[in-house]
Amino acid sequence: MSQTGQIDTPARSVISMQEEKEKQKKQDMQDDSIKSIIIVGGGTAGWMTAAALSNLLTHTNITLIESDRIGTVGVGEATLPHLRYFIKRLGIDEQEFMRATNATYKTGIEFVNWGKVGDAYIHPFGDFGEPIKGIDFHHYYVKLRQNGHINPIGDYSLPVVASKAQKFDYPDTDERSILSTFSYAFHMDAGLFAKYLREYSTQRGVTRQEGIVTQVKQHQDSGFIQSVTLEDGTQLSADFFVDCSGFKGLLIEDCLNTGYDDWRHWLPCDRAIAIPCQANTPPLPYTRATAREAGWQWRIPLQNRVGNGHIYSSPYMDDNTALDILLKNLDGEPTAEPNFLRFTTGKRKKVWNKNCVAIGLSAGFLEPLESTSIHLIQLGIMKLLDFFPNKHCEAVRVDEYNRMMQLEFERLRDFLVLHYHATQRDDSDFWKYVRTMQLPQGLAHKIDLFKERGRVVQYTEGLFLKASWLAVYFGQGIIPKHYDWQLDALPIEQIKRRLDEVKSQVSLASAQMPMHAESLAKHCDLETGWQTPPPPANLSLYGC
Ligand SMILES: Cc1cc2nc3c(=O)[nH]c(=O)nc-3n(C[C@H](O)[C@H](O)[C@H](O)COP(=O)(O)OP(=O)(O)OC[C@H]3O[C@@H](n4cnc5c(N)ncnc54)[C@H](O)[C@@H]3O)c2cc1C
Repeated sequence: MSQTGQIDTPARSVISMQEEKEKQKKQDMQDDSIKSIIIVGGGTAGWMTAAALSNLLTHTNITLIESDRIGTVGVGEATLPHLRYFIKRLGIDEQEFMRATNATYKTGIEFVNWGKVGDAYIHPFGDFGEPIKGIDFHHYYVKLRQNGHINPIGDYSLPVVASKAQKFDYPDTDERSILSTFSYAFHMDAGLFAKYLREYSTQRGVTRQEGIVTQVKQHQDSGFIQSVTLEDGTQLSADFFVDCSGFKGLLIEDCLNTGYDDWRHWLPCDRAIAIPCQANTPPLPYTRATAREAGWQWRIPLQNRVGNGHIYSSPYMDDNTALDILLKNLDGEPTAEPNFLRFTTGKRKKVWNKNCVAIGLSAGFLEPLESTSIHLIQLGIMKLLDFFPNKHCEAVRVDEYNRMMQLEFERLRDFLVLHYHATQRDDSDFWKYVRTMQLPQGLAHKIDLFKERGRVVQYTEGLFLKASWLAVYFGQGIIPKHYDWQLDALPIEQIKRRLDEVKSQVSLASAQMPMHAESLAKHCDLETGWQTPPPPANLSLYGC
């Protein structure tokens, strides 16, 4: 007898089981939460997405499909400081990550030959001075310059001075200390990073499916993606799909025909050759981007090698010339064959379409001049988690996600365009074109306002903040005509005294820091044959 006084008979049990099943079915129909996700592609984007989703969505089935036969782009080696927060959020120990990916520390990017041939400046992960009495530091600097005291603005930035001296230490957590005024990122082997995250994700329940997707099926009415079919006929369905299939955009474009905005008229580079070489000197704590006749060359130091590449514009340079230039400008013997890549700078018209989000190269591509691609992957993932949908993917979430990603892409694009446009170079047709091209709406106004008043237009969304714009403006010779009028009455001697103080604080702080190679050896338990490097020979190069 049951507690309610009814007698359980076999017939009664069958009925209640049927009722249970019906109830469950009804509940499932009402429950519109996402139960299964398929990620197509296992490059940096695919495995970063799998790692982040598996860390948070513990009750969702996640499958990642990749093919060893197709491979990955896997070039991305220079990153931005935000990656540290991604790693931290996954609960990964930073030093373990560095050991697993042969990483080095990065405190900025050195731009050589951009404003003029022979010029160099560093875009640091940090500020130039601090506001004084509510007025931005650079206005004092401009007034000082107008009075004949012309130092590079980098002299007032600890990460610039420390980078040039090849120093690195972790920033101080005490915000009053000058040693807290910078941040850092990494140079890393992106292939090893994806491998590390694959291990991480599969341990958290992600299913890795080897295979090539040959067909994508949509629901007849909604157009939502229903399933993908592999070469061997296996069909896999899910509630939600993430397209990490790289440049081809297998789901977002081949299936959903979303469309692509081509930005090559603003950023005309469309080819790259990547090649690693031996590291003969201790790794520098910064990326180097050297402008060439029709593009630029990157140099990214890892623990065990140097990553190099030449990005160029095919209407202005052929592949053989580009390869010659790259090979002539390597620090050591190449350790692999050159890898030739083609791309179209731009962005998918919508990065989220129906029940599919594109993350990584499938969403769009901006050349790696400011190391932004892995950051855009991270942003795409974080915003997906913020706006995580149900099975219906309501328009309000999708539209907001698309609006925000559009702004991020456009603002990064404008910042990259500034590097090309703000030049006095006219030594090749490429430089003549970018120097005189019509700018994207808003960028011309932004530059004009800085030239006239020293004002940096600020956005609420967008990655690069005031200090980054200042680095490129001053570094490439855009100097404001006027400083803030509130400084008119301030005697120049007083300004000079104050700025000299900042300069000597910066130089003292840098002197106290250990060499980058020492920090690396200490924190990553490296045993290396690196000698303590001599001071850089080209210190006088850093002018504006
Ligand atoms: C020249 C160059 C330099 C770069 N440098 C930097 C840098 O310094 N810093 C930075 O942040 N970023 C950089 N990037 C960008 C960075 O490399 C990419 O953003 C990153 O690697 C992400 O790529 P992905 O995962 O989107 O695509 P991919 O690496 O191309 O991966 C695509 C995946 O999809 C899979 N796939 C494709 N088709 C199918 C199919 N039909 N079936 C099954 N699987 C399939 C492939 O097997 C692969 O696993 C650079 C990019 C380029 C081109």
